[in-house]
Amino acid sequence: MQTQNLGYPRIGSKRELKKACEKYWSGKINLHDLQAVGADIRKKNWLLQQKMGIDLIPSNDFAFYDQVLDMSLTVNAIPEQFRDLQAQEDFDILDLYFAMARGYQKDGFDITAMEMTKYFDSNYHYIVPEFKKDQKFSLFSTKIIDEFKEALKLGLVTKPVLIGPISYLLLGKEKEEGFHRIELIDSLLPVYIDILSQLEALGADWIQLDEPFLSLDLSPKAREAFSQCYTAIRQKFPKLKILLATYFEGLRDNMDLALSLPVSALHLDLVRAPEQWVEIADKVPDSLSISLGIVDGRNIWKNDFQASLKIIENAVEVLGEDRILIGPSSSLLHCPCDLDLEKKEDILTPEIKNWLAFAKQKIGEISLLRSLAIGKEDNDNMALYRSNQAAIASRRTSTLIHNARVKNRCLAITDSDAHRKKPFSLRRAAQQQSLQLPLYPTTTIGSFPQTKSVRGWRAKYKKGLISKTEYENLLKEETTKSIRWQEKIDIDVLVHGEFERNDMVEYFGEQLNGFVFTQFAWVQSYGSRCVKPPIIYGDIERSHSMTVEWTAYAQSLTQKPVKGMLTGPVTILQWSFVRNDQPRSETCQQIALAIRDEVVDLEKEGIKIIQIDEPAIREGLPLRKNDWSQYLNWAVRAFRIAASGVRDETQIHSHMCYSEFNDIIENIRDMDADVITIECSRSQMELLDAFAEFNYPNEIGPGVYDIHSPRVPSKKEMIDLLNKAKSVIPENQLWVNPDCGLKTRDWEETEKALESMVEAAKEMRKSSKVVL
Ligand code: GLN
Ligand code: ZN
Repeated sequence: MQTQNLGYPRIGSKRELKKACEKYWSGKINLHDLQAVGADIRKKNWLLQQKMGIDLIPSNDFAFYDQVLDMSLTVNAIPEQFRDLQAQEDFDILDLYFAMARGYQKDGFDITAMEMTKYFDSNYHYIVPEFKKDQKFSLFSTKIIDEFKEALKLGLVTKPVLIGPISYLLLGKEKEEGFHRIELIDSLLPVYIDILSQLEALGADWIQLDEPFLSLDLSPKAREAFSQCYTAIRQKFPKLKILLATYFEGLRDNMDLALSLPVSALHLDLVRAPEQWVEIADKVPDSLSISLGIVDGRNIWKNDFQASLKIIENAVEVLGEDRILIGPSSSLLHCPCDLDLEKKEDILTPEIKNWLAFAKQKIGEISLLRSLAIGKEDNDNMALYRSNQAAIASRRTSTLIHNARVKNRCLAITDSDAHRKKPFSLRRAAQQQSLQLPLYPTTTIGSFPQTKSVRGWRAKYKKGLISKTEYENLLKEETTKSIRWQEKIDIDVLVHGEFERNDMVEYFGEQLNGFVFTQFAWVQSYGSRCVKPPIIYGDIERSHSMTVEWTAYAQSLTQKPVKGMLTGPVTILQWSFVRNDQPRSETCQQIALAIRDEVVDLEKEGIKIIQIDEPAIREGLPLRKNDWSQYLNWAVRAFRIAASGVRDETQIHSHMCYSEFNDIIENIRDMDADVITIECSRSQMELLDAFAEFNYPNEIGPGVYDIHSPRVPSKKEMIDLLNKAKSVIPENQLWVNPDCGLKTRDWEETEKALESMVEAAKEMRKSSKVVL
């Protein structure tokens, strides 16, 4: 039985890589210094895994920005627009790599960055490979080989990790019409063969090829490509041991295909799909070993040794010890680095800390599970086993987790709790009466620029350098300024500006029971950007109102309506580490009830419009289409539970910042928000076609300008977009607003853009024949 790891976090336990990259980008350190930081992280990770008893230690799991982009450089899939840059004398390959990831605006070049998107259902973002019809591939970056040699020098024969050829192609995108990227496999495969023969010549024993697409819905063409490709690899390399890694889902209907591929070992994600082992047990061909992905690579909970050992023991019975590997369910890239760094007991109490395991601890778990499974039951191991079981038991029964009040309340939810009192058409009349808004009402998405000074006040307050009253007075001043300014430029529905919020999930998590935070549990989101998701450990309950004070304060300053601003239950769930001892849907429902109470309290305080943001509802979609409707049912219901406690006159808004609605538009309708604001400007309102075709019944604010860019749009541009919108959506359904919150922008550009936006709306009103 061997232990293996699919990948280790590369940001460094104190985010050393992030800091070094950012220093390099701003010219504070040179390439050599940056390379040294990378080498140091790799070395530390390898030696740590070796010391902790991992047999197959991954290499090439390191990346300065993204492992998919690494692959594009490896196979020379460099888009046209970067070729001139690359051709410059002395232009380092790492600079080319960063240019592809971040764009390049220097020395007369102005090249935009390549597209970025989420890696399957994780919060990790990768750079999307771009392919042309006549795409050629060749070995360009030798990073994978260099890293293998680097480890050899330390005395380690690592297991190089590559994204498998099929998944690499499927992760990409065609940049012209007339072909499907899977057809490029014939020209891509020789590069893989080249890499593998170099690695074999250097003494590599195991190679890991990641093929997560094997766990997704596959086209017949892709299935065929899998068979051909892996057969060809086996023919070339009869001795090289290929570990085929699948993760994030079960193999399901691709099980037989996966078992038929001539590889040495197949890795299964037994955390996401534990039933897989039973399904597969009596079907494994003699030539195949199975890697049991048993320690959760996507979450932060301690492994339950008793449950894991049961699976391992059963696998030993069926396959024999020699044909079993054990490892994490997926790469540990998605976990924070090291729980040992969390030393502040007032932030993470010892009781809760005892339930957790981060990447380093998970490596220890894998190693110990092996020892226990092969019968190394010495005193130390047995003591560790017992303390593991004690931790599992303490979590199961802890009063910190279980709150009968919350559970009973969830049980008592009825269908009418998930419905507004009257249908939209009747609510609409009541809202019009109460709000008296003009045609093309203007609003914003919630946040205003979080300037250095605002962030500075918060930092000082957190360090105890200014008092709570001082901090709040500064925020009040900022809020007042923003209200006065919105009145001056004549926006119809005002917002308070969200100056008091660090992050739209953290702000709520910090105030709800059932959440805990950490100091150092950073996870890479993209490039140098890391996030520190809150941990939901217990039943969620709201013990006090969270936003009422700020919203009511803002409302007290003006006669115009101020929109209350909340983060929705699905988004809070999606952007946290979630408990694994109950279904996600139940946790979501608990959050929904907490948000519902907040909505009701805002209404009581006289707030007439309340926005419940759900930017993450789409990214929560399961990987398999078959599972979509179940998810969408509970996700939409959670939103409705949050939204439905109010009177008909109270207008509920929702905001979603993504632009692919076509396949879930019915579900968006089912959310039954009175108004939704969405991202639209980048696609030039194309997205609205879906809404028009579908006859979307409620009101809609298609963003009229892109807030992700510092560029200030002209009034005319926005009028053009509104005219486009008006050609497909009835005018009296349209709102006028930016794409998303303005938190990351400067005041100067925000002021100019919003002033023009209001002017644009006014012109639209003038030329309209609709009377409200
Ligand atoms: N209300 C939030 C804001 O304005 C919404 C952010 C988001 O959609 N991601 O910042
Ligand atoms: Zn948004």
